[in-house]
Amino acid sequence: MRVLVTGGAGYIGSHACQRLLRDGHTVVALDSLYRGHREPMDLLAAQFPERFSFVHADIGDAQAVRSAVDGADLDTVMHFGAVAYVGESVEDPIWYYRNNIGSAVTMLGALDQARDGRGVDRIIFSSSCATYGDPPEGMIPVPETCPQHPTSPYGRTKLHFEHILLDYAEMRARAGRPLALTMLRYFNVAGCDRSGLLGEDHTPETHLIPVAIQAARGKRPGMSIFGTDYPTPDGTCVRDYVHVEDLIDAHVRAAERVPPGAREAFNVGIGEGYSVRQILDSVRRVTGRDFEVTESGRRAGDAIALYNDPSKIRRELGWSPEVTDIDEVVSTAWSWFEKHPDGYKS
Ligand code: UDP
Repeated sequence: MRVLVTGGAGYIGSHACQRLLRDGHTVVALDSLYRGHREPMDLLAAQFPERFSFVHADIGDAQAVRSAVDGADLDTVMHFGAVAYVGESVEDPIWYYRNNIGSAVTMLGALDQARDGRGVDRIIFSSSCATYGDPPEGMIPVPETCPQHPTSPYGRTKLHFEHILLDYAEMRARAGRPLALTMLRYFNVAGCDRSGLLGEDHTPETHLIPVAIQAARGKRPGMSIFGTDYPTPDGTCVRDYVHVEDLIDAHVRAAERVPPGAREAFNVGIGEGYSVRQILDSVRRVTGRDFEVTESGRRAGDAIALYNDPSKIRRELGWSPEVTDIDEVVSTAWSWFEKHPDGYKS
């Protein structure tokens, strides 16, 4: 395959580039570097000089998108480029809609016109379990058929873009240019590349596992649990933490197996839920360190409990996670933070 990876310099996008390159594919990563990092791009360019290139541009730059696709005759797009914090999206919804919808629609138009109007053959979209919001009774673990009622602007941007892609795929089918469309609804992505090259480096960092690791390392004075009065066994939110390399494996399988004309949505999560307190216990076990934890109020936009029913992805893509032990997920993140205490800059 010849793949455009939008958001390729970000945490998940860079892991996708690495896997695709290791598998022998050609990759062009496109990233505004607003939150992504140049360092992983340089590392991958050094390892795969012939098959990898990096374009410093925003997904809303139609010309850059189109010339990236045309320049390397790319047939596949893995679209990761987005802003992706639930809390932040509540604070600044317009920015979330502008990026995740406005710029993404511009990108889609450019993709459609590329390759002399043939467009790309495959799109794999990074959607989210946040599109489900709080599933109704009987829908946890969450199947793909669960009604989608997001509880945050972030979740709504992902759901709207799913709909936009479905409309686009319909147009392509009618025009006799069938698109293979896959929407992967991620649960919580965690951990780092097990070969130690790539990591997780967010500014600001808000995700539970890296925040807890920073607290364990003494890089922050402590941390808070956002909400202890949820209707869950220990009162804290429950999430499904999938290792980033397993997540990327789902993308590769989707690219290989979803045929032209198909429009599929798959959940990607291991099928087991962990509470915030259980994650903090895992971080304590893996790091051997204790840290200050305070209990604070709920974070706006958070769903109560979300974990996956992995039946469909297992059945149709033959996917199952290699990393199922939460301590192993945490320890891959811990190893990277040990080597890079200040992220890629260190
Ligand atoms: N969380 C927390 N303290 C933190 C960061 C996160 O209690 O410092 C909770 C958060 O409220 C949610 C869970 O941990 O219930 C996972 O949050 P994260 O931001 O990692 O991912 P999200 O579920 O928002 O995608």
